[in-house]
Amino acid sequence: MITQYKLTSAKTILNKSGQDDDDIFAGTINPYTGCEHGCVYCYVQAERYQPYKNKADFFRTIAIKQNAVSLLNEILQKGLPYGMACIGSSSDPYQPAEEKHKITRSLLETINKYGYPVHIFTKSSLVLRDLDILKEISKKSGAAVSFSIITLDPRTHVIFEPGSISPQERLKAMKELSKNGITCGLSLMPVLPYITDDEKQLEALIKAAGEHGAQYVWSGCLTLRDKQHEKYRSVLLKDFPGLVSRYAALYKGRHSPAPAYAHRVHETIFKLANKYSINYGLEFVKKSGKWGKGLTPIQKEFEF
Ligand code: SF4
Repeated sequence: MITQYKLTSAKTILNKSGQDDDDIFAGTINPYTGCEHGCVYCYVQAERYQPYKNKADFFRTIAIKQNAVSLLNEILQKGLPYGMACIGSSSDPYQPAEEKHKITRSLLETINKYGYPVHIFTKSSLVLRDLDILKEISKKSGAAVSFSIITLDPRTHVIFEPGSISPQERLKAMKELSKNGITCGLSLMPVLPYITDDEKQLEALIKAAGEHGAQYVWSGCLTLRDKQHEKYRSVLLKDFPGLVSRYAALYKGRHSPAPAYAHRVHETIFKLANKYSINYGLEFVKKSGKWGKGLTPIQKEFEF
């Protein structure tokens, strides 16, 4: 399948997170629309999040937001409200297009220029290219990189994350960043029921993340909405046929698994994080008092 790249002009670049005033993220930034990593479980395939008419396009049509930096400049000139910028919420900011277009790098330079903290989600080791700028941001205001890893199992990785590097390579990148003083964490999302959720697997992953410098973990269970559900189910039918009826029971009438199940998974992860002295979530950076502007409540008048 050939990937198409197109240059676009975005209307906005910072989407307000907006859950509550205490949200650690001021807003999310996605330098690209579409994501070549092509994860089977990707939540963006659901109709409510889909940027394209045909959901298949999300993985093979990559829109490059060429005006991202000028839009961010305009915003940061006015000042961010409470919280930090989160790069990469609905597409990987270090997917292959970034090697050539360097939009993420330019955004980091802009964030550094204004002295704000930053958080990045990625599955790619290309983030190491930007170690120089991340080090500067880290010293000045704080930088965190969450590596998205759901399993250490090679078969599960190949089936569900066909376009991304192995979990072991991501851990190596985490170690390198961490060694250089960047705050790193494990984004254990989504936990796949009956595939990646047993305690032994979760423990191996959390332990390995800790050994590679993860200071925090956060987690979320798999959601299954409309088109995303269709894709995921087709893979279950092919590779895990015995699980189809178990999923039907677990998600009966819901897009999330039964609350008792989700509670059990989160309790287990919370317990394991504790065992390996890893924080749950990023709240600890606020408490540390070491992170710069944006993580102290400046409460400026601000409009997106
Ligand atoms: S890396 Fe994230 S955004 Fe990209 S396909 Fe995978 S889940 Fe979706």
